[in-house]
Amino acid sequence: MGSESSFDAIIIGCGIAGASLAYFLAERGMTDILILEREEQPGYHATGRAAGVLVELDFVPSILELKILGGRFLRNPPDGFSEYPLLRQSGILIMFKGELWDSVRQMIPGLRQSGVVVNVLSREDVMSLIPVVSSNNFDGAVLLPEDGHIDANELLWSYIRNARRRGARLHLKEEVHGIELEQGRVSGVKTIAGEYRSPLVINASGAWAGNIRKFIGQTPVQLTPYRRTIITFASPDGMETKDWPLAADLSHDLYFSPESSGMLASPMDEDPMEPCDARPDELGVAQTIERLKQFTPRLAPRSIIHKWAGLRTFAPDQAMVVGEDPVVKGFFWLSGQGGAGIETSAAVGQIASDLIVDGRTEIMDVSQISPMRFADA
Ligand SMILES: Cc1cc2nc3c(=O)[nH]c(=O)nc-3n(C[C@H](O)[C@H](O)[C@H](O)COP(=O)(O)OP(=O)(O)OC[C@H]3O[C@@H](n4cnc5c(N)ncnc54)[C@H](O)[C@@H]3O)c2cc1C
Repeated sequence: MGSESSFDAIIIGCGIAGASLAYFLAERGMTDILILEREEQPGYHATGRAAGVLVELDFVPSILELKILGGRFLRNPPDGFSEYPLLRQSGILIMFKGELWDSVRQMIPGLRQSGVVVNVLSREDVMSLIPVVSSNNFDGAVLLPEDGHIDANELLWSYIRNARRRGARLHLKEEVHGIELEQGRVSGVKTIAGEYRSPLVINASGAWAGNIRKFIGQTPVQLTPYRRTIITFASPDGMETKDWPLAADLSHDLYFSPESSGMLASPMDEDPMEPCDARPDELGVAQTIERLKQFTPRLAPRSIIHKWAGLRTFAPDQAMVVGEDPVVKGFFWLSGQGGAGIETSAAVGQIASDLIVDGRTEIMDVSQISPMRFADA
């Protein structure tokens, strides 16, 4: 193949998912790829709005496994992959109360066995790292000192740059508005510019994955976008915050972290909504300030510098959806990245490229993330 209108694979969406797959496919020698992105720039939606941290702790086993695998790539990318480091190991501090702390305590030996560095912190340790939290708010805490902030923009563009260098094509401002099917399998896509033929179409459209689904008719895969809000504000006068780790209080739905203009915080909101250019609503912003007032009063901002929101898209069981559709052949899901699409992207991109090129992968047991799990249900 390899003409202006016919490709070995077409990827819908150039967020971190589509870009990482293009990179790994090209590395595997599949370079006749077209990425179609509706917006003027890659990463305009969820990818451009993430807090962008690596946190190797998760209650969904497959997500935890993917985070650990993805973390290895972020710490040690291939030579020449990126121009700047991808991960700043600024640390992640997570506080828990009650039963949640009991379950996390039980997870720690397994995490360590998987190579995650986990330090259990005393109340005094926490207070000395982040002097604004109150010791009454948590029963236990862990520090993941080798995790931290990802340069999501550098990661995204490194995937794109390297994929294009090998021949992958990227069309911006070109929305897919139909999928062509022939005898129950995919044969191409339709856009405003015309039709492109391909036996393989990958749904990496983030919050729109459910809309793209409608183009293929029957499939048991379901996905829902949920909005999450972030605000930024100045650090309190006289308080040096720039070396703090990101701190998350999982029992009270709050995280905060230093960032370039001072501090960033999120109420960890999860409002289901239709796919859209998500905007923060007043409630999400008010919730953030309220939680800061309640749990870290010294951090509560007098004014906000920026606020934004993005959509995190989940399957009902919270695991990702990676693999060929159970009904429509040639339609490949790369969806449901939820709140972990950046940190897991290298692992997920690699797994998806293995499945596409070899039909299998050695990286992990993919039954947990396969779309086939919905057909079995
Ligand atoms: C506030 C917030 C904080 C987050 N924090 C983290 C974090 O700390 N760590 C982490 O790993 N993850 C985090 N995430 C999650 C992460 O951002 C997502 O999992 C990830 O970006 C999803 O990537 P994606 O490529 O699937 O989606 P997107 O980045 O949304 O990309 C999908 C693309 O598809 C395009 N598209 C859609 N429909 C069409 C069409 N019909 N034709 C052509 N193009 C189309 C869209 O324009 C879009 O660019 C966070 C998310 C939010 C919102």
